[in-house]
Amino acid sequence: MFGLKDKVVLVTGGNRGIGAAIVGKLEKHGAQVAYTYRSDPGANGKLPIRADVTNLAEMDAAVQQVEEELGPIYGVVANAGITNDTLLSRMNPEQWESVISTNLNGAFNSIRPVAPLMYERKEGCFIFISSVVGEQGNIGQVNYSATKAGLIGMAKTLGLEGARYGVRANVVSPGFTETDMVRTIPDKVKEKILKTIPLRRFATEEEIAWGVVYLMSPVTGGYITGATLSINGGRHT
Ligand code: NDP
Repeated sequence: MFGLKDKVVLVTGGNRGIGAAIVGKLEKHGAQVAYTYRSDPGANGKLPIRADVTNLAEMDAAVQQVEEELGPIYGVVANAGITNDTLLSRMNPEQWESVISTNLNGAFNSIRPVAPLMYERKEGCFIFISSVVGEQGNIGQVNYSATKAGLIGMAKTLGLEGARYGVRANVVSPGFTETDMVRTIPDKVKEKILKTIPLRRFATEEEIAWGVVYLMSPVTGGYITGATLSINGGRHT
């Protein structure tokens, strides 16, 4: 139905949370999915690879391994991400750098080794996992929102650069989603956040993963590039 059968996809941070749901859903629709993790490989996916997205050499090696073991990569989902929150007036350079280097440099490191291969083969698809915080801003997350807004710019530019090669680049921008990242938020803050969400609940990981399947699919997403799919319960600006 989605034309994903046997397509090889690499998902970063696929061992848990939204990434694991993406791995599961792509596999369910026939894709052969490799994914990266840092510490615990998790339970799903055909090919777990230990690789830190902040390290270009490790991502380069991961890409080579996927190509050797599963075949030519059709899609990359740049999902790995972290938060390190505080107000700008208290944020030290290390807090700023850690988030930039994982969320933004990490996305670059994840797609840079693959792009020339896709361009040569004249097909492929990049998907960046951004955030409602990148679209709207959020107090205490100046580092995180900068990276997530940056991913939207990257996808727009790569949509233009890749078009002549038939390579698409898009963004899935989740709202607050029930994962470890949100489970660590204090209950009082969560209650406040819920009041800002028109649908009055957090997203499930599955609901975000469906967005990735839709955009990755050459059937449903074949004419979509440079776009952002916001899945946020109605929290649009
Ligand atoms: P989790 O905290 O549950 O998982 C984060 C994932 O990223 C883990 O797989 C982790 O691997 C991986 N990761 C972090 N740093 C690195 C690194 N340096 N190298 C490789 N992998 C790394 O997060 P979510 O599932 O909630 O988030 C997934 C994506 O969705 C992130 O980009 C996040 O910003 C975004 N997002 C999440 C929202 C939410 O409400 N949850 C809302 C909007 C966007 P490991 O387990 O090995 O540390």
